[in-house]
Amino acid sequence: MERRERSGECLKITRLKTAVVEGNFDWTFVRIETDEGIKGLGECFFAPGLTATLRSLEPLLLEEDPRDVHRLFRKLQLATSGAGSVAGIIYNAISGIEAALWDLLGQLLDVPIYRLLGGKFREQIRIYADCHGGEALESLDEVLRSRQPSWIRHETRRAPEDYFADKKDASPCSPEDCRKRALVMKSQGYTALKFDLDVPGTQGSDPYNRCLTNPAIDRMVALIGAVRESVGDDIDLAVDCHWRYSVSDVVKVAHALEPFRLLWLEDPVPPESVAALRAVSSRVRIPIATGENLYLFEGFREILQTHAVSIATPDLQKVGGLAVASQIAQFADAQTIPLAPHNISSPVGTLTTAHFCAAIPNFLVLEFHASDVPFWDDLVEGIPKPIIQNGSIQLPDKPGLGVKLNEEVARKYARNGEPFFE
Ligand code: MG
Repeated sequence: MERRERSGECLKITRLKTAVVEGNFDWTFVRIETDEGIKGLGECFFAPGLTATLRSLEPLLLEEDPRDVHRLFRKLQLATSGAGSVAGIIYNAISGIEAALWDLLGQLLDVPIYRLLGGKFREQIRIYADCHGGEALESLDEVLRSRQPSWIRHETRRAPEDYFADKKDASPCSPEDCRKRALVMKSQGYTALKFDLDVPGTQGSDPYNRCLTNPAIDRMVALIGAVRESVGDDIDLAVDCHWRYSVSDVVKVAHALEPFRLLWLEDPVPPESVAALRAVSSRVRIPIATGENLYLFEGFREILQTHAVSIATPDLQKVGGLAVASQIAQFADAQTIPLAPHNISSPVGTLTTAHFCAAIPNFLVLEFHASDVPFWDDLVEGIPKPIIQNGSIQLPDKPGLGVKLNEEVARKYARNGEPFFE
């Protein structure tokens, strides 16, 4: 490998292949193969039509040198610009490709991805556990319909069409459910937890107008109060609103939750409305976080430079990749804003993000969303298990991503109708 670097010999991409595993979300893997037999692995955030998009991008990469990561990113960006890709789900595809290129480059140069990003600030990556609304985990398809994959053993709480339907007859989340969930995650060693506020029992009187009622806010206070009371003040607690509410009503929520000393309140209003975000941030004392639905550096620039948020939460399987995320992190650091990356991925995407979290100064905590998926740890090989121990990930030190996909496990849970690295 070193000889080729010195001689300038070419290395060529020969194939881009995909596989989709049905976890609690679809975990879409991209494998980039080369004429030397070396392969890179990346993961994309789910999206309708994602693997078809990836197949469309494959011809743009064939015969290219995979070491030219930035140039290939720009090539994909330019090639898809005519389709309107200034943002949006084309970057879910490009993010997985870009991550696979970094994995490949790390293996070629015999260094971990974090080295390629400038080295590490830390070896332990602190993880927070997403606890939903306290209930058992569900699996959702690419348009957020509940489904029942083989590995879910329990009856789901909601019917398939219910997730965003705000049905009044859905059984409400209870403070007791939240308390139990919090204590289980604390007992596993997590020191930071996140709960959803937009759960059954906290709806306003109209599912579309972004407005809340006093009983809905009281219910939120009861849920989060039960969590805080059960885990004590040492555990960091964040809450998520999924961009549902009006400025005035989410400000009421934040004021009501203020005694619980939250780590952050996430996505109070749609992130694309910078004025609305700024209005919320300027009126509450809880740090406001957003970013999982923003793309590229351009998506973050204004909210960072105007301090419309206190914490940025880019998703590395969606935002455009590791290089884009690094640019966001540098700019955020200049504004003294930390990053808490959003993450709903398999161990592949999670470890890709862990390399990034190691390599930036302003890392706060990384999400883990799949604590109830029984095969999550089994999907990769080459790392001590469980991957998350005492609420953190030990950064892999092997070349590239540092792990390989266990294809036997991945195939067992592969999504029907999707190619499996064919
Ligand atoms: Mg969120």
